[in-house]
Amino acid sequence: MPEVVTRFAPSPTGHLHIGGARTALFCWAFARRSGGRFMIRIEDTDAARSSEESARGILEDLAWLGIEWDDGPRLRLRDGRTLGDAARPVGPYFQAQRVPIYDAHLDFLMSIGRAYPAFETPEELELRRKDAVARKATYKYARPADVRPGVAPAERIGRARTGERHVVRFVMPDEPIVVRDEVLGEVRFAAGEVDDFVIRKADGLPTYHFAVVIDDELMGVTHVLRAQEHLINTPRHVALQGALRRVEGSAAGAPFRTPAYAHMPLIFNVDGSKMSKRDKAKAARKSAKEAMAKDATLTAAALARRASLDESALGRFLAADTDDVSIAEALAEALRVALPEIEVWDFRRNGYVPEAITNFVSLLGWSPGTKDAQGRDVEKFDLGFLAANFGIERIGKTNARFDRVKLASFNGDYLAALSDAEFGRRWREWAREHEAGALDRFDDARLEVLARAVKPRCKTFRDALRAAAFALSADDSLTFDRAAADRHLLASDRAGLNLIGELRAVLAGIEPFEPATINAAIEAFAKSRGLGMGAVAQPVRVAVTGSTVSPGLGETLAVLGRVSVLARLTRCERTYAP
Ligand code: GLU
Repeated sequence: MPEVVTRFAPSPTGHLHIGGARTALFCWAFARRSGGRFMIRIEDTDAARSSEESARGILEDLAWLGIEWDDGPRLRLRDGRTLGDAARPVGPYFQAQRVPIYDAHLDFLMSIGRAYPAFETPEELELRRKDAVARKATYKYARPADVRPGVAPAERIGRARTGERHVVRFVMPDEPIVVRDEVLGEVRFAAGEVDDFVIRKADGLPTYHFAVVIDDELMGVTHVLRAQEHLINTPRHVALQGALRRVEGSAAGAPFRTPAYAHMPLIFNVDGSKMSKRDKAKAARKSAKEAMAKDATLTAAALARRASLDESALGRFLAADTDDVSIAEALAEALRVALPEIEVWDFRRNGYVPEAITNFVSLLGWSPGTKDAQGRDVEKFDLGFLAANFGIERIGKTNARFDRVKLASFNGDYLAALSDAEFGRRWREWAREHEAGALDRFDDARLEVLARAVKPRCKTFRDALRAAAFALSADDSLTFDRAAADRHLLASDRAGLNLIGELRAVLAGIEPFEPATINAAIEAFAKSRGLGMGAVAQPVRVAVTGSTVSPGLGETLAVLGRVSVLARLTRCERTYAP
């Protein structure tokens, strides 16, 4: 048995989609479980849509998730290690750098009459497609009459050599193709179901189908785990492997093998729609239309201005002619609505932790099938558990459901399990990357107190920032909630406000200024006045946070520190001075 090699092969045309993260994770876990190797290959043969920046972002997201590759591009990690450093010498790992390899195999296929240059223009093909649609037939490319399977197309090759614009097509065998899938079983594709597809585009680059087959072979990939949407591509790949199997002994290399395939269930939103990048555009479009329906002055022109968008681009977006994410994001910002998180980066930016994401994503179409002591399915586990327990046999056939509420709750649980110090450290790290400056005014000790105060009230680091808003605003810019002030400061002849005056002396003298000592002092003060704790706590809370919602009073005051607390009390008294 050859060593197990799995691969994750993203196209660098955007961020890492959460579904891609699942594919990568399962490939990684399968390789780890089998003692094999996990490889990353960047499929950048779509020159117009691929970018180095996107490739780098995807690699960084994978590393952030803890999905580390053995073979693939090199990436230096923060801890000084470099992924891909000990990669097998089967690169380059960027397909755009492998064009001569594809060309050699393509030439071989032409030489044995299994591929041919085709000269139809895109316009011609479009006409044929329209014609088929008009006849209510499924469009398929019809093999030209002069192409004979097994006979090298000498005349066509000659024409191509003169520089005539062409693509190269594969001669699909005239027989049924059976895909043996480890999840779905045998899937049969009838003879003629797949036409002679393009394997090299007019720009000279291979298509996905061709490059993927060549690379999986040359890179020794034994197991292809990917999403079910690729199942319809697989007969093409199997047919190509069949044709290239005959390479044996030829200059083109060793015979091609068919790897084991495992197609994983699709990921659906809770509302039953397929989860996709387009969900952001859909959400933004819906919000824009609702806002425009509500407010007659919000015309398309006004909205375009507000979102700094070109009006015609906005028009195309609203008409669903484009799902451009940058337009969706500009609209969301202008309308102050949140778009659904789809990409790993979205979750990262919003304060999810990698261990919650990988745990949650592991359960999309797979389950460990182990029970805990109470007989419940084990759902919470780490990467080590996954690497030890993952197997293809427990990948499901039915669509997976992306339950955001469950993911948020997982994340909240992982945050709650962190020690206050660890929460503070990771929260600061997160803020440095995504909310620069937000936590800078707290040293580590104060941040730990703040962490303890907000931890029970947040599911993400971004939530934590919201819960900590009272502590983050400057002492002199706090705004007071009107109703809270009326009720807790001004009612009953300014009872609350008067208490604050007396409490100031108590608070000034507490030593050390910590949650327990503060609570004890305030309790003692309340008792001495024959008041309940609430009657004292709420006025103070409103005075120092502006509202009635904040963590426990002792924690709230300790987080602010004595100087801030006294400054805020003074400012409150001045604000409401008669
Ligand atoms: N580049 C392809 C994609 O991003 C890879 C598909 C495959 O795994 O074969 O969908």
